[in-house]
Formats: sequence, C-alpha cells, structure tokens
Amino acid sequence: MTSAGRFAPSPSGALHVGNLRTAMLAWLFARSSGRRFFLRIEDLDRTRAGAEAQQLRDLHAVGVTWEGPVVRQSEREPRYDAVIEDLASSGLVYECYCTRREIQDAPTAPHAPQGAYPGTCRDLSTAEREIRRATRPAAIRLRSEANEWTVSDVLHGHFTGVVDDFVLRRNDGVAAYNLAVVVDDAQQGIDQVVRGDDLLSSTPRQAYLASLLGYLAPEYAHVPLVVNDDGARLAKRDGAVTLDDLAAVGLSADEVRDLILASLKLPPGPLEAALAVFDASALGNIPETRKPWVWDPRHGVLHAKLIEGKGTR
Ligand code: GLU
Repeated sequence: MTSAGRFAPSPSGALHVGNLRTAMLAWLFARSSGRRFFLRIEDLDRTRAGAEAQQLRDLHAVGVTWEGPVVRQSEREPRYDAVIEDLASSGLVYECYCTRREIQDAPTAPHAPQGAYPGTCRDLSTAEREIRRATRPAAIRLRSEANEWTVSDVLHGHFTGVVDDFVLRRNDGVAAYNLAVVVDDAQQGIDQVVRGDDLLSSTPRQAYLASLLGYLAPEYAHVPLVVNDDGARLAKRDGAVTLDDLAAVGLSADEVRDLILASLKLPPGPLEAALAVFDASALGNIPETRKPWVWDPRHGVLHAKLIEGKGTR
C-alpha cells in the first residue's frame, strides 16, 4: 500500500486563497515526508458546473501537482454501499426517519454531548419502524458504542471529541461525507490527512468509524483557516479572493502563491523551493502560522488602484 497525502475539495465553486493555502500545505506535508499526493473531488454534495475544472486549473497555477487520475466520490458509490452492508451485517447500523426539526426539538439524553444525535430511532421496534418508514425515506446511522474518541493531530496534539450515531447514508440514498472520507482515505492508502481546522470536530467520528472498519487512523494535521477582517472564515463575499478575481485586479497566480507562502514564513518561488525548507513540525510552533491568517482585502484593491494609475498615465 502506498503512503500518501491528499487534497479533497468540494466542487461547489472556485477555490479561494484559504483553500489554496490548505492545498499547498497538504502538498508540502506529503512531499516533505516522502509521501505521494492525490487529488479527490468530493462531489457527493452540492456541485457547480465547471467548478471542478477550474479548481484543477487553479491548483496547478499555484504549483500543486498530484499523481494518477483524479478520484471522484460520485463514481465510488458501490464501495460505500459495500461498507454499509458490512456494518449492517454486524448490526452496526440502523434506519433513521427523523427530520432536522425533530432532531432539534428532541429532548437530549442526560449525558449526551452537545450536538449529538439524540438517539430517537436507535431502539424502535419493528412495528414502529414500519410505520415511520411509510412516511419518510430513511437515512442510515451508525450504531455507535462510543461517546467520544481521541485523535492525534500534528498541530492540535491529542484531541477528544464527540462520537454519536452519525449518518452514513443520507435519506436521498447518497453516502454521507463522514463515511465516504473514511472509506476513500483507507482505500487510497492515504495515511496523512491535512485539511482546514473547521473539520477537526468531525475527526473523532471519522477515526472511530475507521477503527470499526479495521483501518489505521491516518496522521492528521488540521491547519488554520484564512479569515476576513472580522475573524470570519473567508468567503466569496469578501471581495477578490479567488485567482480569477485577483488576476482581474492585477495579481498573478505566482504572486498569490508567494503571498500565501509568506503567510507561512516560507520563501517565494515555486513550491519546490518552499519544500526544501518546509518543516511540518515547526508549523505549530510559529505563532503566525498557528493562528488563522487574516486576509488583507487591500491585496486586491491596491493592485486595482495601481493598474488604474498606470492606465491613466
Ligand atoms: N471536501 C471537504 C472540503 O472541501 C474536505 C474534506 C477533507 O479534506 O477531509 O471542505
């Protein structure tokens, strides 16, 4: 089995500088530890036409390269079904008919952690199931035996978080992210997961599922997000934040790459130059790279002004 890292974007729109920074870090982590690097498109959810091609182009433009064909989750449903079947044959899944509203309104069990599924459908009788099945298509949930699980993360150390009866297959029949990511990482030989730290709280659920399936948990590195002036996660509404937007105001892909590298205290130039000095273990020790990077909107605006200035002269 290969030893590999990956980047796994959801093709819901263009990548912004925060996504690109995570991709560059994932590449640097993998390549600096002698791993291969794969790209997986997580298209089980909302997708936008043309987004995948644009994401691949933008990743290449900042120097992120990958091996082999791009894997798409939408082409892997039979594998997810097979894993759900295996879990079902061990009695580790059950059908859930709850609406989002019902889950919100359900009384929480005495020791249930916040945000955990309240267990409404866990112990229904066969007769009760039949009645409910007639009203709503069922989702499939994991019958979890743990309340929490601890993972080890390069930047966060030991992190303990909630494990509940989370959804494995949504009620539209599509595999849920938490299942697909675990199955794909294991089946692709990915033993290093570098991604945004907004996903840290889901990681104990994923690592628990991996353990049930007999997979080794990968090494995790949840890296800081890029945020706007208000400290909120960077989004399209924050102005020029994608390579196309920034190109329109005069910043080339190379310049954006160098800005991102500077935010990581890495030298400008092709990613290979940064690779030569990249130290994954140092990342968590440098105050600037430990916390979110605040994107300065003037990166875009200043360049726009410069171009205007040139145009009028
Ligand atoms: N597809 C997820 C995202 O774009 C990333 C999932 C992962 O890296 O595990 O946020």
